[in-house]
Amino acid sequence: MKVFKFGGASVKDANAVKNVATILNRFPNENIIVVISAMGKITNALEQLTDAYFFKKGDATSVLSEIKNYHFDILNQLFENKNHPIYDELNNTFVELEWAIEDEPTHEYNHEYDQIVSMGEIISTKIVSAYLNEKNIKNEWLDVRGIIQTDNTYREGRVDWQLTQQLSSKLSQSKGVFITQGFIEGTSEISLTTLGREGSDYTADILAFTCNAESVTIWKDVTGVLNADPKWFDETKKLEQISYQDAIELAYYGATVIHPKTIKPLQNKKIPLYVKSFIHPEEKGTVINELQSPLPIPCFIFKVNQVLISISPKDFSFIIEENLSDIFNLFAEKQVKVNVMQNSAISFSISVDNDERKLPDLIQTLQKQYRVLYNDNLELITIRYYDQATIERVTIDKKVLLEVKSRNTVQLVVKNA
Ligand code: ASP
Ligand code: MG
Repeated sequence: MKVFKFGGASVKDANAVKNVATILNRFPNENIIVVISAMGKITNALEQLTDAYFFKKGDATSVLSEIKNYHFDILNQLFENKNHPIYDELNNTFVELEWAIEDEPTHEYNHEYDQIVSMGEIISTKIVSAYLNEKNIKNEWLDVRGIIQTDNTYREGRVDWQLTQQLSSKLSQSKGVFITQGFIEGTSEISLTTLGREGSDYTADILAFTCNAESVTIWKDVTGVLNADPKWFDETKKLEQISYQDAIELAYYGATVIHPKTIKPLQNKKIPLYVKSFIHPEEKGTVINELQSPLPIPCFIFKVNQVLISISPKDFSFIIEENLSDIFNLFAEKQVKVNVMQNSAISFSISVDNDERKLPDLIQTLQKQYRVLYNDNLELITIRYYDQATIERVTIDKKVLLEVKSRNTVQLVVKNA
């Protein structure tokens, strides 16, 4: 069994869906679980719908009709036969959604969110499955809610591995092509959960793990994993191979091509992960596997909009274990993620994302007990496999406010000079 994952961009319009068929035609007679995300930016639109419904922010009916039109547009371009059963099926799905938002919300926000936002994946997989069958790529639409099970932490479902393993046993023995949803899962209740935004890669990895797949392929609009984001760097190089360890580190420091949660399950079963281009499927892409050697070139990860917070005791005493545990507790409580940190005798510095919904509250609370200085509009540059020359190159015209080095990784918080 192979597992493929197609994200939103790879099914964003009728041509993209046709391209999925072209790619699958390259793999005749194979057993493949195809995990698909919501089409294009539909998850954002469904978030908007949820807000309109829950907080009465905006007009739910018009947001829903846009979502509906978008999908029917694609359907009209894909199916010549306007009597194809998919039309009725999709109409019914939208009627259910219309009914759902007519009632007043009965659960808390995250719970309601998951029930609505998950529809993007239900709809996209129905369309793709029907289209592929029409084009003679015979497949079965599989409801992932009957396989992947989580607790009821809405918007961040925690996988019940044992139960998911049991429920996967039939699928792992099956033959053929299965089209299923990324991002969403079932719970012991009738409601469903999601894995959090961008969770479809994780879905692919969970299924690969429980079905003992031979590989996972993530089809993307890039040629593979690059050593830097082309948004920030003119010269980037594709990495042919990455070890699981490096992939985990890169994801942890913020490389967005790899979802941080996804590598571990694959590493445990030594399942290789391919990142390939859906535009040039013939090209090799990148493979993440058991490679033992380090990456041949430095990798750069940029995070902008950083705030460097420097915390010191008001009485000029030392920073000791008690203050540190107190400070960390506060960060955890306010759900502010520490990107890099450093301490000296009298102060403790932390760089965090500038999140307006979380940071002011954190800083205020800290100020009750500590002297707090902060500096915003900074960049955090992480270089894995750095050397002095690369550090100098990225810090030209910048002032380095903080530098943390380990053997393989350097992190620099910098300000434009
Ligand atoms: N559709 C979801 C999102 O946009 C999940 C995913 O694409 O991975 O976040
Ligand atoms: Mg996506």
